Amino acid sequence: MENIKQDFEFDFVKGEIKTATDSDISENNGFQAKTDRNLRPYVIKTENLSKFYKNKAAVDSVNVSVRQGDIYGLIGKNGAGKTTLFKIILGLAKPDNGTIELFNDATSIAESRKKIGYLIEYPSFSAKLTAFENLKYMALQKGCYDEKQIIELIDLVGLGNEIHKKFSAYSLGMKQRLGLAFALLGSPELLILDEPVNGLDPEAIQAVRNLILKLNREKNLTIVISSHLISELSKVADCYGVMANGKLVKEIDETELNEIVKPFIKLVVDDQTKTIDVLKSMGIENVKLANNGTVYCYDLVNRLSEISKKLAENGIVIFSISANEGDIENYFISLLGGNRQ
Ligand code: ADP
Repeated sequence: MENIKQDFEFDFVKGEIKTATDSDISENNGFQAKTDRNLRPYVIKTENLSKFYKNKAAVDSVNVSVRQGDIYGLIGKNGAGKTTLFKIILGLAKPDNGTIELFNDATSIAESRKKIGYLIEYPSFSAKLTAFENLKYMALQKGCYDEKQIIELIDLVGLGNEIHKKFSAYSLGMKQRLGLAFALLGSPELLILDEPVNGLDPEAIQAVRNLILKLNREKNLTIVISSHLISELSKVADCYGVMANGKLVKEIDETELNEIVKPFIKLVVDDQTKTIDVLKSMGIENVKLANNGTVYCYDLVNRLSEISKKLAENGIVIFSISANEGDIENYFISLLGGNRQ
């Protein structure tokens, strides 16, 4: 999949063109930059976690590490073992082998689990009750009843105007957002969301995506999301676990991923030698030459217009210039066994 954007306004925000609707989630919009991932403590760490159903491993010797502040994307085809892994972590299924450590605390897993909010399968909301009534009931069950917080959460997930609407009148997207409010009851430190955008329309997907980014960046919530939709996951995740047939076949963070799947600028020019000199003068050393005047450059890929201006100023004729995102999707598809879902 080659995804070339010939747009001088191209800006890399999670690998996509910045649009007006997404601008509130841009990197520099008041959010704090994350510290080096390796310096942040573990929130989930499993060792050789396994679960068998009738002698078949649903989860097979999984070593997963989620760090504080991560948006960790768990990718896998249907049946890969993602839900089972989540259920074991949450204490909803018993492992047959292995260990789990939560929040860097090996002593009290039951206490640690209280700091986790989750959305797995569907919470049993009552169709006859309103969003407000449903959440009040759920909060009582969870032992974290706080009317003010419930109203705040309903607002946060964008259902403020529908707070007194019956659940039966909710669209799928609204139900999913209410599910997220449910997961956020009691102010968890870690959110585990199983396929949170499954079955949603594009607008609802964008709303859930923006909410996930907001919760992570503004509230520093660690979030683990499973999905079989690689392109969707890559818009939010900064660390990935890839599951296939119960095994965690790869764990990789954004920095390592960008090294493997590098974004680049492709230029077609009349004079490659002169182009290299100009690029060097701009501090761009990481370049590759190809036939027919093509130059690939792997540095400063977010400064497309600056590069084209500089080349033009130096009398170089540019036949074409384009930014390429790097093929994250194909990389993950190859890890998943090659079949697109
Ligand atoms: P995913 O969430 O990635 O779609 P699951 O964790 O739901 O995968 O399932 C992994 C495997 O475990 C599948 O083969 C599934 O059929 C099996 N499995 C999951 N739960 C059960 C269960 N309760 N009983 C028997 N098999 C199960």
